[in-house]
Amino acid sequence: MRSLRMKLVMIMVLLIIALMIVVASFLINGVGSFYLGEFYEQMGTSFSEDFLLRLTDAAADGPENLYELVMAQSDLAIDLGSRNAYILDENGAYLCGSTDEAEFGPEITDNILTAMTGQVGQDRSIINSYMDVAIPISSGDNEYIVYIRDNKQTVDNLNSQIIMIIFQSLALGLVICVVLSFLLAEIMINPIERLTEGTMRVAEGDFGERIEVHSRDEISVLTENFNEMAGVLQSTMDEINSERDKLSTLFLHMTDGVVAFSRNGDVIQSNPASARMLGREMDENVAYDDIFGSITSLEEILDQSGSEPISAQMKVGKSDLELSLAPFSADESQGGVLAVIHDVTAQRKSEEMRREFVANVSHELRTPLTNIKSYTETIIDAGDDLPPDMKASFFGVILSEADRMTRIVQDLLTLSRFDYGKMEMNFSDFGIAEAVQNVYNAVIIDAQNHGHELLLEMEKDLPVIHADKERMEQVIMNIVSNAIKYTPDGGRIELSAWTMGEKVSISVSDNGVGIPEEDQPRLFDRFYRVDKARSREAGGSGLGLSIVKEIVQAHNGVIDIRSKQGEGTTMTVTLPIKR
Ligand code: ATP
Ligand code: MG
Repeated sequence: MRSLRMKLVMIMVLLIIALMIVVASFLINGVGSFYLGEFYEQMGTSFSEDFLLRLTDAAADGPENLYELVMAQSDLAIDLGSRNAYILDENGAYLCGSTDEAEFGPEITDNILTAMTGQVGQDRSIINSYMDVAIPISSGDNEYIVYIRDNKQTVDNLNSQIIMIIFQSLALGLVICVVLSFLLAEIMINPIERLTEGTMRVAEGDFGERIEVHSRDEISVLTENFNEMAGVLQSTMDEINSERDKLSTLFLHMTDGVVAFSRNGDVIQSNPASARMLGREMDENVAYDDIFGSITSLEEILDQSGSEPISAQMKVGKSDLELSLAPFSADESQGGVLAVIHDVTAQRKSEEMRREFVANVSHELRTPLTNIKSYTETIIDAGDDLPPDMKASFFGVILSEADRMTRIVQDLLTLSRFDYGKMEMNFSDFGIAEAVQNVYNAVIIDAQNHGHELLLEMEKDLPVIHADKERMEQVIMNIVSNAIKYTPDGGRIELSAWTMGEKVSISVSDNGVGIPEEDQPRLFDRFYRVDKARSREAGGSGLGLSIVKEIVQAHNGVIDIRSKQGEGTTMTVTLPIKR
């Protein structure tokens, strides 16, 4: 800023000096011309014809007479100082004059030379340091030259005075100009300084402050425009920021993994999902080749100019991942590769389960159907040859296979109702003790047929719960019949119930075959059976516990399995008393 102020001062000073020089040279020139004109006019009027005649007469009596006559002519304004008169001979030599010969000097001017040829020498020149006229006077044999010379002393004095005045006014002008330029600088530079500060703040990223506008000149218009620009910038930046926040939140929380690689394969950005799916930290030490190098090279993706990304599959641990790899920004320096990772493990698993389920259903239904078909064919083929008791037993098999099919279909229907949320539950208040007792009564005969000892252990004062009674009995029944089925004859089965706080538990313990640990997590899967042959023999299809799980979940309850192969199983259902 200082320098701008200084420049302003310099310009003003130069302007003043230039102006003064112009004025001075015009004045000096004007004064010189004026005096020159004045001198020659004076000479013209003084040396009138009449005066010249008188001079010619006087010349006859010698140069002294001539001199006296010249000195008597007051119009010539001979002052013996700056203007002098001389009488010269025809060769321009000094004869007499108002100064002595030494002061006259040896100089023969152009005008004297002209006079020596008999003409009047009155050439004027502004450059000479003197003004002169030389008039030849001849009378008879005497030839003289009357010579008037002015050494411009008066003009020089006047000029030096003018120069003095010019210098004085220059000095004054300079002072005024310095003061003025400072004042001007204040008016012009202060707003510029404020504007500069403002631009610096904006450059540093602070768009909030506005610069005050005091006047209505160009700088104010500039300032106003700047304010407006800062405002627009601010709102644009706000928009960009909120957009960026939105995107980064999306990026952070999206379920798909996203990783951006630079052109040389470094990780530029990645979200937590990507690290989770790839099972590794996504820091700067990770390069493209470490992760996706085996699938396709970075160059190949970068060359992919079409809009279709490269799709690929990969397996990390137990997860199945689907990849989309595409280049972003064609810019040589900034572009890179974007990898979107989609975890399809669950999807694959559910597809697998669905296929398995369909296969299971077909298989489970085909077996009884085959049996029914073959028995029916035998009955038809044999006709009357078949003994009645055999016929009856065949019909019994057909009936039981039909029952089995009906049961499977019913179970599947129940499960599908749960799946679609269409299961209607009849909630009512009933004593849990009653439900457990009902199941006990229903299975005691069956248990005894297998030689099992069935014990019932119920706490006194078991609560009334709010649940679907029929479904609850179905749950207990399924678990108890499993215990009967999967315990070798002559086993010990205990059915017990108790409350704990706000919850009631029903537990079935047996000392049967037990369930291997690795099978326990899949026990509730549809059609899952530990020992398929044994289970089918026992008439099981593997749907019982699936239904149990759905019903218990619908009551906000939990099932706990404790089992050891060869030692026995305890299954406990715990339900909230209040719904
Ligand atoms: P369904 O109940 O449909 O007639 P299921 O009894 O075979 O058929 P689930 O009740 O779902 O099917 O039981 C699944 C599997 O769990 C059984 O096949 C069996 O292998 C195992 N299992 C269940 N309860 C016991 C138990 N108490 N002891 C040992 N294994 C059991
Ligand atoms: Mg069962």
